[in-house]
Amino acid sequence: MANTDTAQDAAALRAAIVRKLTYDMGKSRSGARDRDWFLATALAVRDRVIDRWLEATRAAYAHGEKQVYYLSLEFLVGRLLRDNVSNLGLVETLREALAPLGVDFDAVRQAEPDAALGNGGLGRLAACFMESLASLAIPAFGYGIRYEHGLFRQILREGWQHEYPEDWLQFGNPWEFARPEISHDIGFGGSVEAVRVSEDEMRHVWHPGETVQAVAYDTPVVGWRGEHVNTLRLWSARALDPLKLEAFNFGDHVGALADRMRQEAISKVLYPSDESPAGQELRLRQEYFFTSAALQDLVRRHLRVYGDLRSLPDKVAIQLNDTHPAIAVAELMRICVDLHAIPWDEAWAITRGSISYTNHTLLPEALESWAVPLMERLLPRHMQIIYLINAHHLDSVRAAHAGDVRLLSSVSLIEEGHGRRVRMGHLAFVGSHKVNGVSALHSDLLKRTVFRDFHAITPDRITNKTNGITFRRWLQQSNPGLTGLLVEAVGPAVLNDAARLEGLIPLADDAGFRDRFAAVKRANKEAMAALIRQQLDLRVDPAAMFDVQIKRIHEYKRQLLNILETVALYDAIRSQPHLDWAPRVKIFAGKAAASYHRAKLIIKLAHDVARVVNGDPTVRDRLKVAFLPNYNVSLAEMIVPAADLSEQISTAGMEASGTGNMKLGLNGALTIGTLDGANVEMLEHVGADNIFIFGLTTEEVEARRHDGSHGAAAVQASPRLGEVLEAVESGVFSPDDAGRYREMMASIRGHDYFMVGADFDSYFEAQRRADARWQDSGAWWRSAVLNTARMGWFSSDRTIAEYASEIWDVPIKR
Ligand SMILES: *Cc1c(COP(=O)(O)O)cnc(C)c1O
Repeated sequence: MANTDTAQDAAALRAAIVRKLTYDMGKSRSGARDRDWFLATALAVRDRVIDRWLEATRAAYAHGEKQVYYLSLEFLVGRLLRDNVSNLGLVETLREALAPLGVDFDAVRQAEPDAALGNGGLGRLAACFMESLASLAIPAFGYGIRYEHGLFRQILREGWQHEYPEDWLQFGNPWEFARPEISHDIGFGGSVEAVRVSEDEMRHVWHPGETVQAVAYDTPVVGWRGEHVNTLRLWSARALDPLKLEAFNFGDHVGALADRMRQEAISKVLYPSDESPAGQELRLRQEYFFTSAALQDLVRRHLRVYGDLRSLPDKVAIQLNDTHPAIAVAELMRICVDLHAIPWDEAWAITRGSISYTNHTLLPEALESWAVPLMERLLPRHMQIIYLINAHHLDSVRAAHAGDVRLLSSVSLIEEGHGRRVRMGHLAFVGSHKVNGVSALHSDLLKRTVFRDFHAITPDRITNKTNGITFRRWLQQSNPGLTGLLVEAVGPAVLNDAARLEGLIPLADDAGFRDRFAAVKRANKEAMAALIRQQLDLRVDPAAMFDVQIKRIHEYKRQLLNILETVALYDAIRSQPHLDWAPRVKIFAGKAAASYHRAKLIIKLAHDVARVVNGDPTVRDRLKVAFLPNYNVSLAEMIVPAADLSEQISTAGMEASGTGNMKLGLNGALTIGTLDGANVEMLEHVGADNIFIFGLTTEEVEARRHDGSHGAAAVQASPRLGEVLEAVESGVFSPDDAGRYREMMASIRGHDYFMVGADFDSYFEAQRRADARWQDSGAWWRSAVLNTARMGWFSSDRTIAEYASEIWDVPIKR
């Protein structure tokens, strides 16, 4: 019901939108398209944020509040219109504002491009954290890079992935404010001069060979109910004065332009690598570029307000999202020692007191390190500082553990061996007062594996902060049907406090409520079925179980296990077509890193299996396979509310946390998963009866890997797996190229590092348990309701509150 206040506000908003369209964009109403309406609407909505934004920023300094700085090379934000409008409480007002103009809010919403400035979970976590920081009214800045091109667009042709450039800024970004006046000089290369300043004191002066400017672009981050607004400050590279460059090149216009291009390349494109190193000089330049800009920025702000760097740890908490900004440790030391003449030990206390570090992976191939010669060439002063930090660090280790040569080489910041390298994880560890993993299991494994020796030396350093997701985006906005039902069932306070979801627990036994819960899911699935039909020209039955695996394609995430189980199920249905099979739609989405050939082949296999299965009349509606292209935040927002079964089937010990698992569980999907990452904590929360756990544990995986013939043994032990492998490797699904999958299948018979064979039977059996639950619809929906009811703990508000009290030492007012 539109009350008069809403009606008045809608009229005011409508007038503002039309003004933006007319006077800021120079367009007439009649000629405006959805994209134009989006821009006009976003500009009008942004106006409603500014006063509170400026006020929040001012208040933080006026009250001397501690500021959180979240440094992340990635922010996987997605669209912002609905997020902002919803947090401002303007959804209905905006619908009413647009309707008389003949404009549909949902069409406008979908005209917004995704800000895809991240690869996957790590970048999405940073975006969820920014939203929760604002919602908890913690003064915070996010610092990152304003990539001109975000994560590539994925096109599938005959099942092969092709990467196309993404161009989110093509029509302008209405949310950001360019701040050309806020810039910092970022140096690279050159030399270091040692200057004697007194009898026993040297100062080091870095003369960079090259300087690039980092220019600020600010996006306001609106918290829940619009009460607090923080800043996401992304840096763009600008070549220093082009005229100077030209003079430097002695009138060589073309050379000057080439230099300029090279410098500005720093913020051109996001590295499309996930869980694998991007060992390129440009990557190191990106990392130093944004880290140095962030530190210069926060130091300048701190000095302006407080006048002295010694109070930095009291007023500033710097969180490093993985090791990408780990050079911050050396950069902050340089700023203190070289630029502000602070004695080394004091500078070290300032640095360690301010910085903390989040580890995101145990995969050895994903642990960042940089060759010493590259560091010496690109960041000569930082390399000196790292050597000095290392000398102090090794001295103190030696003092406590004399003669332990193995320990010293294991905790050294420099990896000796074929080519010396700087270990960025080690640098981040020694430069931080706290180091955290992102799930209980992961933090535990950090202590036992990559940081084992560090943990022995500093047992209080490592702590756990299990990841979370923002419920505003992943429930309230993406699933309005379920949100409405929850508000009705347990009251509107659930919108403010995720713990209120527990009020649903008794309703799991209420058949009437379960029916309404199922009806919401059904409506979401119908929308999803329409999207599958539109994108893939494939009809799926919304009454079937929607079995969903959406995430980056990676061998450790084991999409291959899911596809091979699909083949086994297909064979089983065909051999016993008279049985009462639980109908399923297997839904996949995800991108493979451009150079990751095995991952691309897995996508191709999903496509090949889909072609055969979907075209086979004997299975009819009992099995369909759909691979949706170009997975991103907006596609996730469509799929998550429509999922019945959530596939979280990584090899135990390899997924640090996962957050997709949380999104799907929150929206009432039952999880089929291994004891990996945050699945372990999900099991504790939702209860063993409401989740399908299978497979080897981390310890069992470790033990098996020592046995060189375990792959062959697993195939030997499972006739079902044997048949599936034979079918795939003999070309049943790839008649155009019978040998396409031979090598991939051979690896399962061989090393099988990811335990696809070892977990196959256990997984197949867990899937049949899921089938049985599905057939008992009362039991299924009871479990589904209990999943939603017991996921409150996985809110990123809880995660951020833990960081605030246990790592940052900042109070929470809300
Ligand atoms: C949540 C999310 C992820 C992370 O998913 P996982 O299943 O935890 O790997 C990756 N990409 C997008 C677009 C997401 O929304």
